[in-house]
Amino acid sequence: MEAQGNLLKMKSNFTDSAVEYQLRLGDELVDLNQFIGQTIELQYQNQINCIACGKRTSKSFAQGFCYNCFQTAPQAEECVLKPETCRAHLGEARDMEFAQSHCLIPHYIYLAVSSGIKVGITRNTQIPTRWIDQGASKAVIIAEVPNRHIAGVMEVFLKDYFADKTNWRSMLKNEEATDIDIEAERQKAIDLLPTELKQYARADESVWELNYPVEAFPLKPKSLTFDKEATISGTLKGIKGQYLLLDNDRVLNIRKHNGYLVRISSM
Ligand SMILES: [Zn+2]
Repeated sequence: MEAQGNLLKMKSNFTDSAVEYQLRLGDELVDLNQFIGQTIELQYQNQINCIACGKRTSKSFAQGFCYNCFQTAPQAEECVLKPETCRAHLGEARDMEFAQSHCLIPHYIYLAVSSGIKVGITRNTQIPTRWIDQGASKAVIIAEVPNRHIAGVMEVFLKDYFADKTNWRSMLKNEEATDIDIEAERQKAIDLLPTELKQYARADESVWELNYPVEAFPLKPKSLTFDKEATISGTLKGIKGQYLLLDNDRVLNIRKHNGYLVRISSM
């Protein structure tokens, strides 16, 4: 196998709780699960192209943008990271057409277990993709709200009671709190909501379980980057979240290298 293109975060498919990954190199998709246990090599071609406009950029901003798009592109607007700042429902956005399909649509507020339990939000089209990207092993929906702004408000409220970040080292080591009753936590979250938010709680949500294709988890994950090593090769031990797990506890965050021109080959 050999393929080359600009990296984008891995695509995932989900069947019977098992996660399958595809590496995206431009328009090319490479099924990755089949290479677990084998040697792969990734060679950075010393070129980054902006994931919004395609122009070459010497540095990647906010996971794949050129500086100009980071400042202006709707995909890089502040509300992507801080949904509570979204003003699309007031008719204000960098690009209202983009906002119609990304902000002014139903969003879910969820609890997920990736290391500990955490709260998060996502567009209704991104389930279970969002959880797979975070390497969650379990997740459950708390509420469905009509737009991104309300989702952000609910998340901010629940952040007083739940973490909102994943500890990526614990997630990769598969060090997971096993004593979490996610259904009880879901009920606790709903009970905490003030009246104006409680109306959006969803009844009877089932818990999602996600299993990742991993032969061996790293004991002390060491993060690799193409900025320091142009050639990264080794045995693929598994894939979890947006990370390739290689031998000797080395891990590569694919999403962090969005836009990097890379050639992959298997041996
Ligand atoms: Zn750009």
